Amino acid sequence: MSKVAIVTGASRGIGAEISKMLARDNIIVVAIYNKSFDKANKLKEELNKESYKLDLVQADVSKKEECQKVIDYTIDKYGKIDILINNAGIDQCKLFTDITDEEWKEMIDTNLNSVFYMTQGAVKNMISNKKGCIINISSIWGMVGASCEVAYSVTKAGIDGMTKALAKELGPSNIRVNSIAPGIIDTDMNKNLSKEDIEEIKKQIPLERVGTTLDIAKCVKWLVEDEYTTGQIISPNGGWVIN
Ligand code: NAP
Repeated sequence: MSKVAIVTGASRGIGAEISKMLARDNIIVVAIYNKSFDKANKLKEELNKESYKLDLVQADVSKKEECQKVIDYTIDKYGKIDILINNAGIDQCKLFTDITDEEWKEMIDTNLNSVFYMTQGAVKNMISNKKGCIINISSIWGMVGASCEVAYSVTKAGIDGMTKALAKELGPSNIRVNSIAPGIIDTDMNKNLSKEDIEEIKKQIPLERVGTTLDIAKCVKWLVEDEYTTGQIISPNGGWVIN
């Protein structure tokens, strides 16, 4: 049977590109969208036309019960989870002193707690199968911190911590856990940046360009196929951050 992958945040941007890449590798993709049904459905139609399989499921991953619904659906229908891509996320640009309790909670629930809920659900199945691949999409801001993006940076640093600790705990069960920490990628998440902002950022990037969703999907494909990388934070960022 083909491998089965769950991709969160699959309706747009990086998650949509990852879903395409995996489906075109004949992996069955359970693609999670929240609000963007039309975009998710367009992606499904595009792939189905090419005879690849993409299964759409609606879920708000900031809620534990909705994450469990996704896990139950996947195991009932396909019997296993081989790959989990925790990609869904939101960002916020705001002075630290202006962040409200509700905004802080929404950020933690959406970007970090979702990774805990989805991963805990999937790992139970992966342990019994004695194999699995988990890829968490974090960010360079989890590594170096971003001014006016404290809440976002906290969630991404938390994801990287989870990646390292879980890799140690799950290695003996043949489950690999890695983070991909992109630099700036051309998606809706950056649509608030002006042309001038982008040009300024490009000046700080040794490869002199903004990343594409394909840059990240290629990295995911490599990590899915690899068999000896775990606990790593891999950062496709054009050299913007070099550790
Ligand atoms: P995007 O274009 O804004 O897409 C965000 C995706 O997350 C959408 O598919 C959205 O689903 C989903 N999502 C948001 N909240 C959700 C929720 N509560 N439940 C389920 N799904 C939810 O963002 P992107 O740029 O592709 O970002 C993808 C990931 O990469 C994020 O984790 C982001 O932090 C990370 N990242 C992005 C960049 C960048 O420069 N773009 C850089 C570093 C890291 P719906 O539209 O269906 O609601």
